Amino acid sequence: MQCTNPACSFATLAAMPVLRLAIPSPLRQLFDYLPPPAADSEELAGLQPGCRLLVPFGSRLLCGILVEVVDESPLAADKLRPAREIIDSSPLISESLLALCFWAADYYKYPVGEVLSAALPTALRQGKAHQPGVSRHWQLSLAGKGLPAGALSRAPRQAALLATLQQEAPVSRQALQALGHSDGARRELEKKGLIEATDLPLATVEPSWNDGPALNPAQASAVDTISASLGGFACYLLHGVTGSGKTEVYLRLIEATLAQGRQALVLVPEIGLTPQIVRRLNQRFNAEIASLHSGLADGARESAWEAARSGRAHIVVGTRSAVFASLARPGLIVVDEEHDASFKQHEGFRYSARDLAVKRAQLENIPIILGSATPSLESLHNANQGRYQKLMLEQRIGSSVMPDFEILDIRHASLQGGLSAGLLQAIGHELDAGNQALLFLNRRGFAPTLQCHDCGYVAGCSHCDARLTLHRRAGELRCHHCDWRIAIPQACPHCQSRQLNARGVGTEKTESVLAALFPAVPVHRVDRDSMQRRGAMEEMIAAVDTGAPCILLGTQMLTKGHHFPDVTLVGLLDTDASLFSADFRGPERMGQLVTQVAGRAGRAAKRGRVILQTHYPDHPMLNTLLQRGYEEYAVALLQERSTASLPPFGQLLVMRAEARELSLAESFLGELRSGVESELSGISFIGPLPAPMQRKSGRFRAQLLLASQSRGALQRAAEQLVALAETLPAGKRLRWSADVDPLDTL
Ligand code: ADP
Ligand code: ZN
Ligand code: ZN
Repeated sequence: MQCTNPACSFATLAAMPVLRLAIPSPLRQLFDYLPPPAADSEELAGLQPGCRLLVPFGSRLLCGILVEVVDESPLAADKLRPAREIIDSSPLISESLLALCFWAADYYKYPVGEVLSAALPTALRQGKAHQPGVSRHWQLSLAGKGLPAGALSRAPRQAALLATLQQEAPVSRQALQALGHSDGARRELEKKGLIEATDLPLATVEPSWNDGPALNPAQASAVDTISASLGGFACYLLHGVTGSGKTEVYLRLIEATLAQGRQALVLVPEIGLTPQIVRRLNQRFNAEIASLHSGLADGARESAWEAARSGRAHIVVGTRSAVFASLARPGLIVVDEEHDASFKQHEGFRYSARDLAVKRAQLENIPIILGSATPSLESLHNANQGRYQKLMLEQRIGSSVMPDFEILDIRHASLQGGLSAGLLQAIGHELDAGNQALLFLNRRGFAPTLQCHDCGYVAGCSHCDARLTLHRRAGELRCHHCDWRIAIPQACPHCQSRQLNARGVGTEKTESVLAALFPAVPVHRVDRDSMQRRGAMEEMIAAVDTGAPCILLGTQMLTKGHHFPDVTLVGLLDTDASLFSADFRGPERMGQLVTQVAGRAGRAAKRGRVILQTHYPDHPMLNTLLQRGYEEYAVALLQERSTASLPPFGQLLVMRAEARELSLAESFLGELRSGVESELSGISFIGPLPAPMQRKSGRFRAQLLLASQSRGALQRAAEQLVALAETLPAGKRLRWSADVDPLDTL
């Protein structure tokens, strides 16, 4: 190595390694630093990729992650700044996780520093010292021990907490919570100096488990196949109808994984599904289960993260971002409901957690199971291509059978709250027989439109190209895209007429109709509005679990994961719009939705019935779905996608821009297109075009769509587009993003 600085001697330079760091910044590059001057040779020798360092960055101090130690930097030595401090003596991020982050940054064209920092809990991201393997406990302080009996009688919650700590100490925060003590009471006592915190090392328990039910032949064969590959990479698509025992298959493989002394990572699409799977895991396993999702407070998230990283947690359950969980001994990944669009992040770092989970399994050299009753076309295609191995569970467990579908032609029917006489009659019949009915309407609010009868005016959002939804109970019109709200106007703002009519049907309206027609049974509405209150979902589930006759009415929220064994009738009020969706994924989503909703019926001993109301009873795709099932429906959809060279047969990339004026967004994307088009082959461009909803939250949006048969070609195009976007002056004045494998092309 030759030093370019005449003032510096070769010998001192050669001894000085260069630290290459990823830093959370929008710049798509790594940054070189010299070691902290205060670091001794032992500390330097211990530095490994995945350790954090505090470094000066511009005028700030940031927390960077060491990626590699190199002998020389392309920068002149006098341009390199020394790092301020080494934070970790051992890596927080394993080598394979580091590799995953790099792969993801490259594939999704997102700055690696930001990808890596997404892999850490907030406090650690900000450079806080990491305390491995301890958990915070509380005990009485000296002052607390000296307290006379009956003290704090005016603060009963604090007194109760003191009493607990007098009996046994120290007690962990989780244990205090489990005993019903609040954080507030604890903080008060801490302030008064009556209790104090102490950090105890965490004990690792030996995992054990109960016996599960004897597997049926299909389950046994799936378990045998997957077990045979524990310890190496393989991707399985577990396609099992709802209630076919997929979860039981996961549980068996998790057992086998724990028996090998390894950890299992289970990803679920939504935070609402974590308690359910955690409950099921707890019933089976006596093991440490860490759950990681966005609903956790920072402290709880950090301790769950640490349990995963240290290996103390045997099973890690989480939503999308848990795909980046640090794991000491990964052995198996499960992605449940793999078709769910929630696995794709829709803003910022637009990754697919499902796809990254497969990549991670490959890097960790472990098996992965993608499970669904309605697999995505991507995964089915991968199975057809031999990249994934498909395993089928075609039968429901026990005597439970798949429900019968009935199409109800509502072309001339008069509807009440979206309900036809035929459906109402069926509901009445089931309720009389002591059963429960579940109705699906994917539209919350009272009515999707408020219209003036005299001039035709329609209430619209001031910030979006969208209609306002009428929420009658709240007395508001709300935008479902930007959450803008106004009081329901008394008169038309255009012609002052008082003839303002609600048009169309939302869950609130259907709920009121049902309540009037079936006054003897409760109607449980399940949508984002009614379930906002904490505990609302649990209360609803508890009420339905009693088995008493009731009506469940809900949006998509109701269709995911829940078991309602006493539901014998499922009614789909209005899914027609999805038959004619402008998005090419519309029919796939419709098929998944209808199949998933239908799967809620008759899961136990009672046979179920599914009624779908439609204005298009002869629609060919609908008939394929209802008569032949999702499997054949998916084959037909794949055929269409192949003909049109759409995913999974062709690849897509969307470049998006949003600005205060549409022309700015469009001309920026136009510049991008003309800047790269001539250099690229095998790629077709569509746009720039205004986004279908041009204006959202007050900003104008445009997009440029690129399609190609070749993933490689599209990756190179993305590379060039992003590089160009970063240098264009217009790019500084608007927001732009690249979306690789977009789920929404609209
Ligand atoms: P899925 O995940 O496919 O919806 P589950 O694994 O939840 O299905 O199984 C549905 C129900 O059947 C659950 O209550 C489960 O405990 C039970 N179950 C699963 N496998 C078996 C089996 N082999 N024998 C008896 N009951 C089973
Ligand atoms: Zn009017
Ligand atoms: Zn709006």
